[in-house]
Amino acid sequence: MKLHYWGTGAAEGIPSAFCNCKVCQEAREKGGRYVRGRSQVMIDDELLVDFGADTYQNSLKAGYNLSQLGDVLITHTHEDHYYPQELHNRQKGFCYDMEYPAITLHGSSNIVEKYYDYMAGNGQYLLDQGRVVLSVMKPYEKYKIGNFKVIPLPATHGTVSPFVYVISKNGKTIFYLNDSGVLKQPVVDWLAKSGIKFDLVSYDCTMGMMDTYHDWGENASHMGLPSVIMMRDKLKAAGVYKDDTVDIVTHFSHNGPEVGYGDFKPLAEKEGFILAYDGYKIEI
Ligand SMILES: [Zn+2]
Ligand SMILES: [Zn+2]
Ligand SMILES: [Zn+2]
Repeated sequence: MKLHYWGTGAAEGIPSAFCNCKVCQEAREKGGRYVRGRSQVMIDDELLVDFGADTYQNSLKAGYNLSQLGDVLITHTHEDHYYPQELHNRQKGFCYDMEYPAITLHGSSNIVEKYYDYMAGNGQYLLDQGRVVLSVMKPYEKYKIGNFKVIPLPATHGTVSPFVYVISKNGKTIFYLNDSGVLKQPVVDWLAKSGIKFDLVSYDCTMGMMDTYHDWGENASHMGLPSVIMMRDKLKAAGVYKDDTVDIVTHFSHNGPEVGYGDFKPLAEKEGFILAYDGYKIEI
């Protein structure tokens, strides 16, 4: 599987639109890997995880033709991950010759509820035209989506029914784990019994060096590196790690301590994590 991180920032991105803090100043000065758009990842040019407001610009930067996209996994309905308003541009008369007549958004039932909210009562016509399909999944069930097998699991995050995803193809399995705080024990217990082994785990590291689990409590919606390490220890104890499982951290906010790319890279690498950046690619 090939992962292409189109965006690696939290809701406000880095620099945050209206912010002039040190992290945001540095990002504006240095550019490149210091700048982070809203998080999403493309897998094998076939399956996009999350559909935030940066999707269109990210597709241009990635050289990806969105007319060839058929399936999107939605982790949850915060606007940095779910921006169905873009789909007005998929209506009849606005686009032609797509590979798939409909783009299918897969997620929890909350994607349907929030679809109508975000579209301000003007979204049904896209479903009626067959240009958009909303596909509701249940946690712990297995789904075949294109060439992938996907299992949604409950995230720990402040929206209704947020998911993290186990995604498999051709004998490789990844665990895409944002937005989320430390997963609840029943989720870890389910994984321990599943027989699943991960080739790659991609963690939410929104808050940089903050220990969100201990500072904010077990319902914290995000992690920082100390909580990520705690989550990794839980997954290792559950037996879902291999000797060579790749660890990645992503989804950064300027609110986290030492979160600037240059400051955070050595801290992440010291603990065995790859620090993702916008445009980062890895093949497993
Ligand atoms: Zn987010
Ligand atoms: Zn800032
Ligand atoms: Zn969120």
